[in-house]
Amino acid sequence: MAAIEAIERETRKVLRTSKVVPSKVLGVGVGLSGVIETGTGVCKFSHLLQWNDVEIAGPLRDRLGLPVWVENDVNTLAVAEKWAGDALVASDFLTLTVGRGIGLGIVVNRSLYRGAHGASGEFGHMIVEPGGPRCECGRFGCLEALVGEGAIRRRVSERKGHDVSRDELRLLVEMQDTETVGVVESAGRKLGMAVANVVTLLNPELLIICGEGTALGAVFLDPIVAAVHDQTFADLGNDVDVKIQTWGDEAWAVGAATLVLRELFNLPGADYRSPAIWHRDQVDVVAREVESRRV
Ligand SMILES: [Zn+2]
Repeated sequence: MAAIEAIERETRKVLRTSKVVPSKVLGVGVGLSGVIETGTGVCKFSHLLQWNDVEIAGPLRDRLGLPVWVENDVNTLAVAEKWAGDALVASDFLTLTVGRGIGLGIVVNRSLYRGAHGASGEFGHMIVEPGGPRCECGRFGCLEALVGEGAIRRRVSERKGHDVSRDELRLLVEMQDTETVGVVESAGRKLGMAVANVVTLLNPELLIICGEGTALGAVFLDPIVAAVHDQTFADLGNDVDVKIQTWGDEAWAVGAATLVLRELFNLPGADYRSPAIWHRDQVDVVAREVESRRV
């Protein structure tokens, strides 16, 4: 399968260029869009990749000779925030990813909430406008089909009379183009309302907003933050610390890598909740620690 071959090829390339001895590699973490059965490492369903029941962990393990863990990509970001990011000391928090897709990682009482079948957090597919625009998932009126990057670009393209790329969209926002700012602000307000409802439902202490959509800046993000503060039940919104995470694409890689550390530190006796050791520039300390606990 092409994806497995590509992952194997790139993993070997990273090992070669980093000059890490294979015997020192603890494992491979894979973050994927979709519903993931983590126990078996099978992608049950991904509309983005058009996959159904695709085995990932098994074939990769056989090819690389290393342990492999697979998890939903938004969930890996939540785990990374807990272990090496803004949520080190948080117990209940949300990571909201904005961009092509709209996703939500939910951490409750320091544990990732995955749902009964590993499909929790498909926040972008809540129907908020029945009969609205068609979503990539095949249904109509999903949040993602209204405020995802594709929807925003489509609306701006209609106004400009040509296909507006991601870079052009960003440029138009930076230039304060009135039509574009109107579309982006409106998307931010709609998304903010949905996020406020989730905050009312789950009462998190921290909300981390990340993903490529954050590049649209204050025009998109301010209405989201304002809605969280103004549209939540009672004073819940004012008790939520909102952080914008500016990690680039590396965040997804850090998230996937954290899966390996998380599994290894779940060994009996490991103080995996200790926040002090999980600062990003102490990763070498962590790696040595993991090595010493290896069984
Ligand atoms: Zn959908």
